[in-house]
Amino acid sequence: MIRSIRARLALWYLIVLGLCLGGLGWFVYTYVARETSTQIDASLRDVAGAFAQLWRSSAAGVRRDNPAEVLSTARADNFEFVVFDESQREIASNSRAARLRRSRHLEPVPDRAPDSLLRRPDLAPLFREAGAAGEAFTTLVGPLGRERAYAVAVSVPGRREIIAVIEGLEREERMLGALRRSLWWMVPLGLAAAAAGGMFLADRALRPVSQMATRAEQIEAHTLHDRLPVRNQHDELGNLATTFNRLLGRLETAFEKQRQFMAEASHELRTPIAVVRGEADLALGKGVRPESEYREALGVISDEGKRMTRIVDDLFLLARADAGQLSLSLTPCDLPEVVSSSIRAVHSVAQGRGVTITVEGKEGRVVQADEGLLRRLLVNLLDNAIKYGRNGGQVIVSIGGTAAEPSITVADDGPGIPEAIRPRIFDRFFRGPDARPLDQGGGTGGAGLGLAIARSIAELHRASLTLDRSGPEGTAFRLTFAARA
Ligand code: ADP
Repeated sequence: MIRSIRARLALWYLIVLGLCLGGLGWFVYTYVARETSTQIDASLRDVAGAFAQLWRSSAAGVRRDNPAEVLSTARADNFEFVVFDESQREIASNSRAARLRRSRHLEPVPDRAPDSLLRRPDLAPLFREAGAAGEAFTTLVGPLGRERAYAVAVSVPGRREIIAVIEGLEREERMLGALRRSLWWMVPLGLAAAAAGGMFLADRALRPVSQMATRAEQIEAHTLHDRLPVRNQHDELGNLATTFNRLLGRLETAFEKQRQFMAEASHELRTPIAVVRGEADLALGKGVRPESEYREALGVISDEGKRMTRIVDDLFLLARADAGQLSLSLTPCDLPEVVSSSIRAVHSVAQGRGVTITVEGKEGRVVQADEGLLRRLLVNLLDNAIKYGRNGGQVIVSIGGTAAEPSITVADDGPGIPEAIRPRIFDRFFRGPDARPLDQGGGTGGAGLGLAIARSIAELHRASLTLDRSGPEGTAFRLTFAARA
């Protein structure tokens, strides 16, 4: 198993190139070999034609009696001629001279009379075939090596004879052998060069990857602002680096948010802790104090304790929701019923500010929800509506939407949310300039977590919580449930 991509790429490159070069070599070799043999056959046929003409004309004249003369006239250095009659008797042949020439590396030798002693029995099948079919080719392996033979039947006045032309293949074999040898050398040489080139190219192409890995190795939680180098953002590696950088950007934002959240949470808890310690120190101070003062101090400590509990509860809920660990126990919830019970929870706060809460809307709106969390969401909205609404004002809760996508709107008649802070009201620990504590009811009491929690709960229910409207005539938040798939 090769571990480095560089080596794997080079190997694949080599295999593919090896197959291509091997295939090309094979193609070139077989093509040249085939072409050569076609050319040899064509030239054998030409030579046989020319010889047949001479032979026929001599058959008509004096030279018919002197085959040696015909053979010498037709002499072509590399060819051997044999003439048979129909009863397969050899009439004329220059075999001996031709073979001598061949054996002396094609040196010309003086013309000799046909040597009828030098028979060529290996030609018998070729003659038979040519006699039957008119012409025939064959390849023979003789004492001087391979040779190609062509036989053609010719009609001379009065009878039929068969002329064979034979050519030694040593020249062609030498040429093909040289081609084979050069291919055997060239293919591995080409492959070696390609392997080196492949390694070099793979190295060059993958160098940015090692650079990215080195840089990525150096990035820690506190250096998330660092980015990977992007050489060319249009190529694949540039794309990868850009994608990774975007991921780093998102991580940086998330880390920053988390850090801010921690800082704000500890800041938020610092005040009640300071109050508790101050009250306790005071009560434990020198001298005995009247009981009412102790009671008062314990009362303050108890209130701050409740406040801390609420903040810690809220933080815990948000942390679990963020981590996806908040499991919802979904049950069919009748919206008017949940609204009524939420209103009951803020009843005393509303009474304290002389606020009347009225419910408008449809009966029979049922959603699959975690009733406890849904109530918490509504209590937060009602809490805000009472806190930021007019003293002695009115809060209207309307249940609407469609049966598939029901909605709840909580509207107050307060002065509205300043336009500048509207985009931030759902942020954790964000408090507007008019933020005020409210130490009763189920709300967070002004820690700036109310709407953040409400939105988290809405998202857990695949619902949306939005600011519906806000202005001098009041503010309304709308919770809309999505149709269930
Ligand atoms: P808190 O109420 O604890 O300050 P929230 O997250 O509930 O925190 O609200 C964030 C801010 O949004 C508030 O400080 C306030 O400025 C603004 N706000 C929320 N609800 C209303 C409302 N009904 N009317 C006017 N302002 C509101």
